[in-house]
Amino acid sequence: MSPRLAQIKDQDAAVSMLRRALQHDKLHHAYLFEGPKGVGKLSCARALAMAINCSAGDEGCGECIHCRKLQKGNHPDFLELGPPEGKRNILIDGVRQAEDWIRMRPHEGAARILVISPADAMTESAANALLKTLEEPRKGNYIILVSAASSSLLPTVRSRCQSVRFRALSRDTVRQLLCAMGMDANEAELLASFGRGSMEMALQHRSEEVAGRIQLGVEILEGASSRLPVKALDAAARLRDRGEAIAVLELLLMMMEELLHARAGMAAQSGLAHKMGDIFLRLQQGGTVSSAASHVAAINRALTSIQRNNMNPQLAVEGMIMSMRSRQKADFWSRIGAK
Ligand SMILES: [Zn+2]
Repeated sequence: MSPRLAQIKDQDAAVSMLRRALQHDKLHHAYLFEGPKGVGKLSCARALAMAINCSAGDEGCGECIHCRKLQKGNHPDFLELGPPEGKRNILIDGVRQAEDWIRMRPHEGAARILVISPADAMTESAANALLKTLEEPRKGNYIILVSAASSSLLPTVRSRCQSVRFRALSRDTVRQLLCAMGMDANEAELLASFGRGSMEMALQHRSEEVAGRIQLGVEILEGASSRLPVKALDAAARLRDRGEAIAVLELLLMMMEELLHARAGMAAQSGLAHKMGDIFLRLQQGGTVSSAASHVAAINRALTSIQRNNMNPQLAVEGMIMSMRSRQKADFWSRIGAK
């Protein structure tokens, strides 16, 4: 179900710009909705279509025949063009058909609206074919290009559109949207912190994958603070895949951030502490702020070695564990007063 303009979250600049254009009847015939993925660009395009076609003339009442058809996705004057099922690109044929469609007068509503999403999926020939129509679609009809990679669009395409910029969502908005989808509060909290302001990224982290990474992270932290590092080295041995190793290290950074927050007496930021179980309390009570800070430094060093220096992920993680352990040992001796 598509939201109304007023329900688009955290995009005040974009929404008020569109609202002003609507109120003064000054909508541009071609827009480029650009910004990170998963922040509401496509929802906003649908909301704008509702606002244009609503017969109550009220930014989409949600109840008239146009609003209802748009919400169900079967309004004859609204078309979303994307890559064909299972394909990555929007080809010239698809663009030509959409052009024929947008050149016709609206069937039922006030205007036809063509949304191309993601616009950067158009091949060069498809994008070139669109140029003429982008310049002058049938008067009163609108084209909205949606893209999270707008810099890869042809300059000739970009220059024919009015840009509307979208920004990352707040963590709290992502959490609320996930809860509204029926997700459990703890899960939503955790995924929101993975999402970095994007619903799409938050949802990518759903599932057992995260549970597995948390488990690995916990084993690494336990091993780094116990007498024998076997468990931690065992966990490192399971991190041969570069992408997976990076994901686990990023998660470890979040764990340390959560730990530092807890030590400072601040409320939990994500659902991570809850998912980490006993180890979290032990770390919270056992370590010092400086040991947590040195853990963070060790994790960052490992991340850099993998990401920038292309180091073997298992070796990088082993090095990180060893450096965490030596810091822990230093802490122990200083606590019992040895020099
Ligand atoms: Zn309506």
